[in-house]
Amino acid sequence: MALVITDDCINCDVCQPECPNSAISPGDEIYVIDPTLCTECVGHFDQPQCQEICPIDCIPVDPNHQETHGELMVKYEKIIAQA
Ligand code: SF4
Ligand code: SF4
Repeated sequence: MALVITDDCINCDVCQPECPNSAISPGDEIYVIDPTLCTECVGHFDQPQCQEICPIDCIPVDPNHQETHGELMVKYEKIIAQA
């Protein structure tokens, strides 16, 4: 699954630099995650780095973007190939 930032986000900016896939960016009102780039950190880290660092715990898994670990690994490999 990709993760999603909820509207509890306080725009503190600490998550953006932690993302190994550059999936996080400032949105119109709150930070947003591009689900095509979020691998839930699969391929890079054991735990989602944005979730680990968010001070208010507002980055749950996105029920609208459910993917298996294998699918996330395929996404990771595509992102790396394009880098
Ligand atoms: Fe980026 Fe990992 Fe957070 Fe997804 S889970 S947005 S890849 S830091
Ligand atoms: Fe928003 Fe959490 Fe990211 Fe801070 S770390 S910008 S509160 S999602």
